[in-house]
Amino acid sequence: MTTELTVLGLGQRHYRVTGGRNPHRVTLEPVACDCADFIYRGAQRVPPMCKHIAAVMSHRAVEPLADVLDNMSAAETLNLVDPTRWKSPPPSPVVEIDPEDKAVALVALERWQQVVGKKPKPNGMYSLWRAAMEAKGGLEAEADGLTTYAAERYAIAHEWVKNIGSKGRVA
Ligand SMILES: [Zn+2]
Repeated sequence: MTTELTVLGLGQRHYRVTGGRNPHRVTLEPVACDCADFIYRGAQRVPPMCKHIAAVMSHRAVEPLADVLDNMSAAETLNLVDPTRWKSPPPSPVVEIDPEDKAVALVALERWQQVVGKKPKPNGMYSLWRAAMEAKGGLEAEADGLTTYAAERYAIAHEWVKNIGSKGRVA
């Protein structure tokens, strides 16, 4: 009798195997399953084995990301599988990045990096520093596909850039 078993990674090398008479839980470190076959016979086998462990092994063999997925929590796995889940809350529409905001932000970041290269503790450059940090955050968010967040960060950077030069600060 063959049953089609389904393996679900739960993170931390834990798996839920369903499709048989009852769902079972398999761990790989140490190798174990909570089914009767494993408890009474499988644990004495070399290597320890039951059909659920076999199913997990073949699941891992065909899943190239098995090792990556195994080391993540269930929530992280879901994010990887479906990143849109946390990109932005559903009710709020995606805000597109304003190209001008981004351009200004990146100039600020570049200038900040030049300044930091010259002196480790630049004084009186609070606005430029803030703009550069927002620009950096924007770039990271954009790389992660968090468009709305990136758009916000660039817009804030733009505001800080406008502040540069006022009150006798850095021009
Ligand atoms: Zn088992």
